[in-house]
This record gives sequence, structure tokens and C-alpha cells, in this order.
Amino acid sequence: MERHCVVCGRIRDAHDFIRVSKGQKGRIILNETSGDGIVLCRDPDCVRRARETRVLESRFGAVTEDAYLRIARKIRSATPDKPANLVGMGLRSRKIVLGRTGVEQAMRSGKVRLILISRDTQKHTREWAETQSRMHHIPLVSWPGPGSFEDVVHKANCRVAGIMDEGIAEAIGKILLT
Ligand SMILES: [Zn+2]
Repeated sequence: MERHCVVCGRIRDAHDFIRVSKGQKGRIILNETSGDGIVLCRDPDCVRRARETRVLESRFGAVTEDAYLRIARKIRSATPDKPANLVGMGLRSRKIVLGRTGVEQAMRSGKVRLILISRDTQKHTREWAETQSRMHHIPLVSWPGPGSFEDVVHKANCRVAGIMDEGIAEAIGKILLT
């Protein structure tokens, strides 16, 4: 079942959401399918904005600080900082462009924060990526595995991707560049 995030309005698959509802004793409960609930993206940004705009309060009445902490913790535990998960997050929030043309376009508008290339990238694509990286001062990383790059980005014959999300780029860089 697909639904809209109460904060950003995006439609995603059910497993990309966290479900928030109110239990019988007034306690906020997470990811139970019973009860009248709302859904939020598994995205720290949406949780932060939910808190700022008091979306949960307007729906459920008073919401404790603890409830927000539990939501934040749940999201963190579901998305450990593994490069493949980070790429998955980027794909779901459409913050990754795939393929050389896409990367080139995004690069021209200054949106790319990190370039990822497959280990088996052909020489000319690798050289192109190295030039782009130098010209635009954007870090370039080679996909280390496990798993092939194509599988990670869910696109056959894809050898290059551009990460447009600052946080995701930084997290991937931290893991793969050190
Ligand atoms: Zn959202």
C-alpha cells in the first residue's frame, strides 16, 4: 500500500515510511498497522520538519519529546550507515542522478556533491569522471562492493552516478574516502 508522507507529501513504498499512531493509553506507537495513524518518510529531514510544524500534535494532541526520540532512533536503526543503504536513501529521495549524461547535466547546474563510479568503469568514462571531479572540485569515489554497482543503483549498465544530497555525499565520502 502506498501513502503520502504527512510532511513532504511524497508517495513511497510502505517500507520507506514509518507509521505513527496513538495507542489506547495515549502513547505514541510506531509501525503498528492497527489504529488510526499517519505515515512519515524514513528520512531525518521529514522527522525534523514534523517536529517543527507540529504535525503530530495537530493529529494526536500532546506528543512527548520521548516519542520524537523514539521515531528518530527507529529511523537510524533501520538505515545503518552502509554505502549501499546510503545510495538507497538517495535513490528513494531522488537525490542521485544515474549515467554520464544525467551526471553531466546535474554537474553543470552545480548540484552534484559526489561522483560514484563502478570499479569496472571503462577507461574513457573513468578519465571523464576524473576530469569532472578536478574541474568542479567534487570528490570521486570508486564503488568498493560488496555487490556490483549496477545492483546497488538498480540500473543495468550504469557505471556512474552523481549524489546530489549533501548529507548522503558526506556520509559516503566519510566511509569510502578514508
Ligand atoms: Zn516525507
